[in-house]
Amino acid sequence: MKRIIPHSRPTISEDDVQKAASNLRGGKIATGEETGFFEKELSRYIGSLGGVAVNSGTNALFLSLKALGIKKGDEVILPSYVCASVLSAINLAGARPVLADIEEEGYNISPDSVESKITSKTKAVIVPHMFGSPARIDKFLKLKVPIIEDCAQSVGGEFKGKKIGSFGKLSIFSFYATKVFTTGQGGMVTTHSKEILEKLRDMTQYDGRESYLVSYNMAMTDFQAALGRSQLKMLGSFIKKRRAIAARYDKIIKEFGRAPKRAEGSICFRYVVEVEDPENFIGEMGRRGVMCARPIFRPLHSYLGLNARIFPNTEKAQGRAVSVPIYPSMSEEEISAVETSLRATRSFLSKPI
Ligand SMILES: *Cc1c(COP(=O)(O)O)cnc(C)c1O
Repeated sequence: MKRIIPHSRPTISEDDVQKAASNLRGGKIATGEETGFFEKELSRYIGSLGGVAVNSGTNALFLSLKALGIKKGDEVILPSYVCASVLSAINLAGARPVLADIEEEGYNISPDSVESKITSKTKAVIVPHMFGSPARIDKFLKLKVPIIEDCAQSVGGEFKGKKIGSFGKLSIFSFYATKVFTTGQGGMVTTHSKEILEKLRDMTQYDGRESYLVSYNMAMTDFQAALGRSQLKMLGSFIKKRRAIAARYDKIIKEFGRAPKRAEGSICFRYVVEVEDPENFIGEMGRRGVMCARPIFRPLHSYLGLNARIFPNTEKAQGRAVSVPIYPSMSEEEISAVETSLRATRSFLSKPI
């Protein structure tokens, strides 16, 4: 039987299981001490004042928008080339989403495109660091609008030697099953502002509040946090393994096509190749047991019924980009099998330009 290499797979060790199990056995399951430790450890790792752990990355975004006081009629800028979760969070906060295009090289939101979309109603810009590759965050900090860094795919990545997530007014993380490390479902918001931290913490629980209007049941639980703390300890080795696999794929791609576009400091969360015909390439790799996927299901302008011509770089990425399996739990046999399949399907790769 042919071995199937899934597109992604979490890396859970026996130690992770023990840590979560010991928390469950201890009976302190709801939000408590363990969650507090996880918040401190991740925010220290990022270089932030503190963090608030929540039950998803999407809710981390929603709460960030609420903490900035964003309401109906306010505008929030985001890229068109990102998962729909970001759009959902803005919608849930009642704000108006304003889409920007991505850069010509790489897959991150374009500072020039963002600048052209800023109005007097713009209350925040969400800057996702896509596929593990840091966006040019220095350019966004110059715009006089609060920046929310979306590090859901890039925890541990660095921009000019500093951890991403340490630049924005707020930063969000996701620990969903397919992300860099996992707590099942989960997320966090980190910030340098004590005031914002207090607001965030207050919003994640509903009991004993003076008002019911801004309290949401979105906190993380302690057994998830126990898993998160254990996974965080492995983050350095996870990133090392990802970069080593990416370097091996790079060799093949450079022989036959364009070198993949990654910024320095990337953690190689996704390995994205550009091909002339994504559907056919995904099918061909699938027949060889290598499950590939489009990294973005649909560009967001297609949900909002906007003209695709306004987003040429997003359209180009969507028309070409395919994500190839890359994760720390890949065995040597699996990595070699992907290498063999990449060589065999080289005629699909986009020609060098
Ligand atoms: C996954 C993801 C999110 C949402 O995180 P969830 O934990 O799945 O809600 C937000 N932004 C980006 C860039 C993501 O990849």
